[in-house]
Amino acid sequence: MKSNFLLIIVMLCSCLASAAVAADLPSPQEALASLVDGNARFVAGESAHPHLTIDRVLETGKDGQRPFATIIGCSDSRVPIELVMDQGLGDLFIIRVAGNVCSTDEIGSIEYGVDHLNTPLMVVLGHTHCGACTAVATHAEVHGSIPALVAPIGTAVAEVLDAQPGLEGDALVEAVVEENVWQSVESLLKRSPDTLRHIEEGSLMVVGAVYDIETGVVEWLGEHPQQSEILMAMADGSTLAETATSRD
Ligand SMILES: [Zn+2]
Repeated sequence: MKSNFLLIIVMLCSCLASAAVAADLPSPQEALASLVDGNARFVAGESAHPHLTIDRVLETGKDGQRPFATIIGCSDSRVPIELVMDQGLGDLFIIRVAGNVCSTDEIGSIEYGVDHLNTPLMVVLGHTHCGACTAVATHAEVHGSIPALVAPIGTAVAEVLDAQPGLEGDALVEAVVEENVWQSVESLLKRSPDTLRHIEEGSLMVVGAVYDIETGVVEWLGEHPQQSEILMAMADGSTLAETATSRD
């Protein structure tokens, strides 16, 4: 009897703790506003450098992490995401991979952020003059495991050239960078039922963005232009087979 009572108390405390964590999280719009404001501070040279003291290390080490956004960005050394968004320890759940491609490993990591840690915002962050996008757009010779890594970008190049035949040079690369952001969002939406569920419940917003490596400014692109159509298609269960990438 006594042990049952203790069990109930423990379960109750656990539920209350979960509720407290959920209550701590901002809305998707508030989370996005925090990133928009942080990047604006960075660009203005007025970074607040929040959550960077040893106290934050001790706090997150003891209480766990509660990041408010999951972000996948490129590995490019000029795009350190916490710095350009002016955020600190425990604020952002980040995946970095050349070309910010969303294949199996990246999607699994994103699901950890949006489903396990319940971040209300997920961002695919491309950047101008991306080397991975440039390599694929210009048919540069790449070796080792890189061809398989950047293969998903080929879809973005094909989409851009289909819409704008003859595009080349910097204009082609910049168009591919943006299209590649949408391709990564689309891969995530088509291959992650957990992500879709959170979007449909209103607890998650997925947006694209492009960081300008010459100005420090993030251009916020909003949700995928065809998000509603993709969600409806996925509800029909008709397009899963079309979404496998060459890395799988
Ligand atoms: Zn890049």
